[in-house]
Amino acid sequence: MSDTSLAFMGYPLLRQAEMFLTVPALERWRTEHSLAFPQECCVCLRPVQRFLTVHAPPGWLGFLRREQILEGVPHCEEHGRQDEAQLLVQVNVWSEWVCQFSLIGLNAEFLSKTRQLNQTGDMVPPWKAFPGYESTSSGWRQGNGEYWLVHVWSSFWRSLPPAERQQYTQRWEAPSEWRSWLMEFS
Ligand SMILES: [Zn+2]
Repeated sequence: MSDTSLAFMGYPLLRQAEMFLTVPALERWRTEHSLAFPQECCVCLRPVQRFLTVHAPPGWLGFLRREQILEGVPHCEEHGRQDEAQLLVQVNVWSEWVCQFSLIGLNAEFLSKTRQLNQTGDMVPPWKAFPGYESTSSGWRQGNGEYWLVHVWSSFWRSLPPAERQQYTQRWEAPSEWRSWLMEFS
């Protein structure tokens, strides 16, 4: 959920935004290989003229067709002259429902808007995010499980008013051991 300058790495113009996709964003990613983007150039915020694709970096098989990571990245005429989008993307799939995106680009406002657009709707509940973990698992106190619970899910949960927490619990059919866990979680 951070938005940081990469000046410390020697790239003062580059900005980085990290996000975990909500369910609607994850479904868009799976079906369209894209994200929700503001309809403005990712470099200068002028009106969009072209949509470009981010490809995986060429590896030793780089002579083959490079894998497309992300499609539909908006560009203006001037910044869309190349075939490659002016955005770097790193995707870390932690589980079927937990997907971390790092976006590296030239415009902090574009990155920030993109992050907001892909943070609408539900974050999956813990029992879906890490199906191997019981509510009492030590996995919630270390590694990816802890990181996700502390930095991603808990802020989502705290943003919900009580009535919506109730609906969320029903919508995701919380198992009984998780119902009591949710009531105690604040
Ligand atoms: Zn532009």
